[in-house]
Amino acid sequence: MDCIFCKIAEGVIPSNKVYEDEYCLAFHDINPQTPIHVLVIPKAHIVSADEVTVENSAFVTKIFEAIPTIAKQAGLVGGYRIISNCGEDACQSVKHLHFHLMGGKKLPEQMG
Ligand code: 5GP
Ligand code: ZN
Repeated sequence: MDCIFCKIAEGVIPSNKVYEDEYCLAFHDINPQTPIHVLVIPKAHIVSADEVTVENSAFVTKIFEAIPTIAKQAGLVGGYRIISNCGEDACQSVKHLHFHLMGGKKLPEQMG
């Protein structure tokens, strides 16, 4: 399967890693939109939040259990925003579930 985030999870494509465990990997976004911009991905290929099921939801739970540690390790001390773009209308560009952790400055209330 030709999935860039699966390749990053396997270490085939390098990433600037923040955190890793059995279930997930967190790394800095290659094109940061905020001073600190980290992506958290499951180590299983799940296309998007729209493809979460009873069978794979443990990956999502494990990601959210890891997020406080990931945020601390990334230096997101003042708070952060969690975003997951899902499908065409949300402009999801990589079809492997990922959560953007964004911060490092006071973010605007509105997304526009
Ligand atoms: P999406 O638009 O799908 O929500 O977000 C995909 C994100 O992945 C974008 O912010 C993009 O900059 C990031 N990205 C795409 N390819 C790579 C890559 O090879 N390495 C890293 N670190 N980030 C990537
Ligand atoms: Zn994948």
